[in-house]
Amino acid sequence: MPSPSLRRVGNENIAHVHGAGPANGAADVSTRPSLSPSRAGDFLTCPLLYRFRVIDRLPEPPSPAAARGTLVHAVLERLFDEPAAARTPQTAQAMLVPQWERLLADEPDLAGLFDDDEQRSTWLGEARDMLNRYFTLEDPSRLEPRHREHAVEAVLESGLLLRGFIDRVDVAAGGEIRIVDYKTGTAPKEEYEARALFQMKFYAVVLWLTRQQVPKLLQLIYLGNGEIVRYAPDESDLRATVRKIDALWQAIERARSTGDWRPRPSRLCAWCAHQAICPAFGGTPPPLPPLAEIPRQAAAPSRADMPAAPAAVPAPAESPDRSGRFAWAQIPPQADGPAEPAPTPSPPVP
Ligand code: SF4
Repeated sequence: MPSPSLRRVGNENIAHVHGAGPANGAADVSTRPSLSPSRAGDFLTCPLLYRFRVIDRLPEPPSPAAARGTLVHAVLERLFDEPAAARTPQTAQAMLVPQWERLLADEPDLAGLFDDDEQRSTWLGEARDMLNRYFTLEDPSRLEPRHREHAVEAVLESGLLLRGFIDRVDVAAGGEIRIVDYKTGTAPKEEYEARALFQMKFYAVVLWLTRQQVPKLLQLIYLGNGEIVRYAPDESDLRATVRKIDALWQAIERARSTGDWRPRPSRLCAWCAHQAICPAFGGTPPPLPPLAEIPRQAAAPSRADMPAAPAAVPAPAESPDRSGRFAWAQIPPQADGPAEPAPTPSPPVP
């Protein structure tokens, strides 16, 4: 299998798709045009939403759903700090309130999400349900993730910096890589899975470029309804994803140079914090800054994102592979990351 060429700039892995275009890896990553899966999803959902978030950088009030997602992710990340035998539903439940208090200390505005204790306790109850549902889908005592909340970056031959956070990376005894993402919503209908898979393929491209290895499995864990979606990508998939990302970036650059950030109303407008200034709802956006001042770098990826639109990315021709079987619990030590606890021997994850 041809592998991407790899170079390092500073402490970051910087990679290029082999043979995909002129090398452009020398620029400082702080000034390089960049894209995350969330912002890519924003542009696909609505170019004006992308503009409000990346160019105008308009603040958005916290939402109970986004805060619950952050809380559940925090618990699931820290659950793996515990010894394998202690990763139980009871441990996860016991972590919920302390993690909520930690989030509140970091973001005091979150306290204003609830009118009273009853609302707060209903909201916490929903988070508890999601954690309980997680244990019906996976047995964390049999897993030793290679990375959690893993910050990744890679540069395409086009010069575009791809960046994001992967919830979890598992590595099997044979070296196969599984990318895992927790979703606190419900699984989309199969015809709408492509958008979620696009995000996962985006991450797969970054790991492919930085590790010179195609991840074996992409796994979405939907805690809202207890479903898992799995997809086994191949190299042609990832090359197609690179082409799609490059085409998307060209569309973003066109909007940037023409100032045409048109709204694309959809049912997802119901979650948008900017309806009051959206022309689709009778509002007026703030004036655009001069072209030279328009940033080409998105702010750091965040969990407080609007749900991705289901319709803008065409569904893949392939069906998701729901049958991957690898011994993800058995993690060999690797040279390029922090040391993890010794793996717990276990049978393959079904
Ligand atoms: S309200 Fe809808 S159309 Fe307007 S910016 Fe938000 S997502 Fe786009």
